[in-house]
Amino acid sequence: MDAMASPPEGNSLARQHLIDPEICIRCNTCEATCPIGAITHDARNYVVKFDVCNDCGACIPPCPTGAIDNWRVVPKGSAYPIEEQFEWESLPVPQAFDVSDTAALPEEVERQTAEARRGEGGLVRAPASAATPAVNLYTVSNPIQAKVTGNFRLTEAGASADVRHLVLDFGGNHFPVLEGQTIGILPPGRDVQGKSHFIRLYSVASPREGERPGYNNLALTVKRVTEDHEGRPVGGVASNYLCDLNLGDTVQVTGPYGSAFLMPNHPGSSLLMVCTGTGSAPMRAMTERRRRRIAMKEGGELMLFFGARAPAELPYFGPLKKLPTSFIDINLAFSRDPQTPRHYVQDLIRERQEKVARLLQDPDCYVYVCGLKAMEAGVLEAFQHCCERAGVEWPALRRTLLEAGRLHIETY
Ligand code: NAP
Repeated sequence: MDAMASPPEGNSLARQHLIDPEICIRCNTCEATCPIGAITHDARNYVVKFDVCNDCGACIPPCPTGAIDNWRVVPKGSAYPIEEQFEWESLPVPQAFDVSDTAALPEEVERQTAEARRGEGGLVRAPASAATPAVNLYTVSNPIQAKVTGNFRLTEAGASADVRHLVLDFGGNHFPVLEGQTIGILPPGRDVQGKSHFIRLYSVASPREGERPGYNNLALTVKRVTEDHEGRPVGGVASNYLCDLNLGDTVQVTGPYGSAFLMPNHPGSSLLMVCTGTGSAPMRAMTERRRRRIAMKEGGELMLFFGARAPAELPYFGPLKKLPTSFIDINLAFSRDPQTPRHYVQDLIRERQEKVARLLQDPDCYVYVCGLKAMEAGVLEAFQHCCERAGVEWPALRRTLLEAGRLHIETY
């Protein structure tokens, strides 16, 4: 072990909050959440201003990847300036008196950190019965190679979106994943600044034993990005790269990531799933896990709210329709289907308020929300509506859900 360095005289140690550029997917959640403007970004990196950040922790729970959950201990006068952070491709190596050496930190800072990590509703935690995930086995500097063994279009020919089911095979290499975890894809090439592209994260769409049991593979659900959130034309670097891959091509993969958005494993546990578009990937993984175990009669209910523009745009529409209603209660919300009234998932949640309220209160039911950032507030309001109609106080129940690892939200 390295000898501990002392900070320069008169220059006490401080914790510096940093964002890991290797894992960050640039979703802007942290910057949007920070109440005091301590987080900013350039075309490449999201960074934290040392002189503004007060360690309040508001940004920690919403970060989908955990990139936000990084600190370094630095002499107060030598904190990393944002100009330096903008240039990083990975976090700096901890100094000898760094974060692992919490004894070097004043107790108060530790207390504040623990408090900060609690966020608004408790530490984001996995269900108690979830399997233990492997995380960060492969990094940007040490990725694993996978071979493309499947790439087919999920959306119908006339649909506006090109959503693909991509199967990656890891051959003889170990790449264990659990339903709900994500993996990183390293697109080849360089950005306009001449730097290598940063990783993009995708949820695993297949269950833990693989897309096909006995094969060391997994599937992703990838939508070809052709416009940004404001509708301006852009060519998504990673999505276009992935959608255009041919069978036999190789891909550089990092991860797996995620240790909270995981499914319960105990018999009798139920899943309440809400998703839009490609946010269906983890729901497919969890549903498929349960489908493969139907014969075991483990009990528990599955209820799914799934939003898409129209049936032709809904990933996995065909297979979903074939699942028996005794296995899963499926509620499809179409927003631009000429055949049905315009619906969002939150509208259908309200329509099914009695069952939703029952499941939200069931200590064995686990709730997953994944997809567009825009739907998050609407879905939570719909949960509140269901609870109010059932005479249940939603803020208290939401806190209970979070503390029990029963509410998981991944929206971008
Ligand atoms: P999309 O096709 O743009 O939208 C799906 C549906 O959501 C549409 O019917 C849309 O309606 C509706 N919608 C729009 N605003 C809404 C709101 N405020 N409340 C409720 N519903 C709303 O979806 P997408 O492009 O596939 O996007 C899926 C999201 O999931 C992306 O943000 C992606 O990053 C994220 N995600 C992807 C993965 C993955 O592995 N690929 C994993 C996790 C999350 P209208 O457009 O008609 O208004």
